[in-house]
Amino acid sequence: MSNDLPLRFDPLLFANRGRQLAGNIPVQDMPRLMELAPNSDGEFYVTMAFSMSSLQFPMVKGTIEGEIVQSCQRCMGNAAVPIKGQFQLLLITPDSLELASEEGHEIFEYEGQVITTATLIEDEIILSIPIVAKHADVEKCESSVKQWMHEFDEVPTDEKENPFAKLKDLKL
Ligand SMILES: [Zn+2]
Repeated sequence: MSNDLPLRFDPLLFANRGRQLAGNIPVQDMPRLMELAPNSDGEFYVTMAFSMSSLQFPMVKGTIEGEIVQSCQRCMGNAAVPIKGQFQLLLITPDSLELASEEGHEIFEYEGQVITTATLIEDEIILSIPIVAKHADVEKCESSVKQWMHEFDEVPTDEKENPFAKLKDLKL
């Protein structure tokens, strides 16, 4: 897969040129993400498309796709948590913050002339992490928990019935 994501970029230059980029960023390059999900490995696939906003601020629209490893809240084992997200951000220096906020877009603030790609992407990934991580399929949980879940499944159907189900029938 081609990787044309630069380590750093000049937002004004990229927005003026309408640059479109795609590539991979290793999780290991994102230290704050590694702190939240230390067992993560692999890469995130990222797309970025730059343009000028209506008030002529640099804007980037993009997508992130990948997975991180977190502790499953059911079995405490490692669970691969898929992360998929979209973002649209105005890229703003502190002096333009007030005017830029009138556009009503989300803002990524930077100082100086360039933005480190991994820093911006890292923010977006962290915002997309689910609050409660767990194995999507209970069959993937550690065996002790699996056993417990199966015992729970064996409760007779009558006792598991949702009391509101009958109310719903009455309303019909
Ligand atoms: Zn689990």
